[in-house]
Order: sequence, then C-alpha cells, then structure tokens
Amino acid sequence: MNDIVLHVADVDKSFGGLRALSNIDLQIEEGKTHAIIGPNGAGKSTLLNVCVGRIVPDSGAVIFNGKALTGRQPHEINQLGVARVFQTPEIFPDLSLLHNVMIPAFAKRDGAFTFNAWSGLVRESGIRAEAESVLEDIGLIEKKDLEAASLSRGDKRRLELAMGLVQHPRLLLLDEPTAGMSRHDTNRTIDLLKKIKERGMTKVIIEHDMHVVFSLADRISVLAQGRIIAEGTPEEVRNDPKVKEAYLGE
Ligand code: ADP
Ligand code: MG
Repeated sequence: MNDIVLHVADVDKSFGGLRALSNIDLQIEEGKTHAIIGPNGAGKSTLLNVCVGRIVPDSGAVIFNGKALTGRQPHEINQLGVARVFQTPEIFPDLSLLHNVMIPAFAKRDGAFTFNAWSGLVRESGIRAEAESVLEDIGLIEKKDLEAASLSRGDKRRLELAMGLVQHPRLLLLDEPTAGMSRHDTNRTIDLLKKIKERGMTKVIIEHDMHVVFSLADRISVLAQGRIIAEGTPEEVRNDPKVKEAYLGE
C-alpha cells in the first residue's frame, strides 16, 4: 500500500438537528484518484469543506501528510499543499484569465497575495510563464486576455481548475469539476485530469457524472445520508446492492 496522503478520522458534523457527516473515516493513498459519490444532500461538499478548513467538524480530525489540518485556516491548509476546486467557481470576474491564474501561483509562493505582489505582476515572468503553460494545458490559452466574467459556465470551471493546478498541490480536491460542461468539454477535462494523474498528483474528486467517475477513479467511496455505505474499486462499487439502493429515487 502507498503512503496515506489524507486521513479523515472519525469526523462528525451536524447542522442544527441534521447530521451531515457521521463517523466518516477515509484514507486517500498517494498518487491515486479517489472519487466520492452519492446522492444529492449526502454530505459530499460538507466533507470536502471539512478537508479544506472551511467547515470545522464537531469531532474527529483531518490529517494531511502527517499534520493535523483541523483548526487551521484555509490559507494555511492551502500553503501545506492542498488545493481545491469548488462546486461554484470562485474566480476574479473583473480580471483577465491570465491574472486569475497568476494570483494563486503568487499566493502559494508568498503565503498571501499582497499589494506588492500585484504591483510586481507584470515583472513576474516566471509566474506568468507558469500560468500560461497551465492555460495551454487546459485549452484556454487563446482567451488569456479576456475578462473571466465573459467565459461560459464550463470555461469558468476550467479556469478554476487551472487556478488549482498552477499551485502544483500535493493533493487536489475537486467538487463536481465537470458540472455544467458540455460532453465535449467534459471529455477534455477527463483527459486533462488523466494527464495530471500521470504526474503523480493525488486527487479527491466529488462527482455526480458516472462516466467521469468510472473514467478516472482508482477507488470510490459512496456517501449516503452522511455515512460511507460502500468503498472499493469502481468494479466493486458498481456491483454493490447498497449503492444501487442509495441511488434509487434520485
Ligand atoms: P452534497 O454535496 O452531497 O449534495 P452537502 O454536503 O452540500 O451535500 O449537504 C449535506 C446536507 O447538509 C444537506 O442536507 C444540506 O442541506 C445540509 N447542509 C450543507 N451545508 C449546510 C449549512 N451550511 N447549513 C445547514 N445545512 C447545511
Ligand atoms: Mg455538493
């Protein structure tokens, strides 16, 4: 077995009377693509938000690379090598695509994006080249000088993916990265995610689209009503009667 990059240990989280996560235990192996699937409202986004420090669990811990993440600020977690792509793209709408991708590259290097960094943006040829290369990979290079606000929904999602990739994270967390994309863009994104897998990046991917899950995942955990009801290889999960049952009535 490879090293464990991320260990979610016995995590619980309730919102008022609603138990969004119950006794979640999850181990993510180095270099693997681990998918988390489950019906709407199962707790997938909550779990991802716990991993990046946006939601503090009621109990349990998240351990990344031997360090406890619980209680750390999102930017500290990012600095340790965890990047994420949210379900709703978080981009800078008024800035060009190029600047959108340069900012997280700065933030990763300097620990924050400061006014000094902004005023020095034009001189940062290294970071600019890096951002351009990621935009090239993701198929958005021709649009690099456009305002991010002008992009289609699918392109915004790809831009956000570029903003994660440019940080060369050890662990990339993706919440429904292909939601809102055409089939063509979905397939391009699958190819890109396969390519970064070859580079050894560990990924946790929350996904509704089974075509995406079965194209990419090495392992799958199935969440339903805040609990992990099944875990295994795509083949094992596909044939699990508990999983079929959880998706009935979806
Ligand atoms: P998924 O991503 O699997 O669709 P979520 O993690 O978004 O599910 O939500 C799990 C459950 O927790 C849902 O019932 C949702 O309504 C509830 N929930 C999520 N976030 C909050 C919140 N901030 N406050 C109250 N309830 C929430
Ligand atoms: Mg969600």
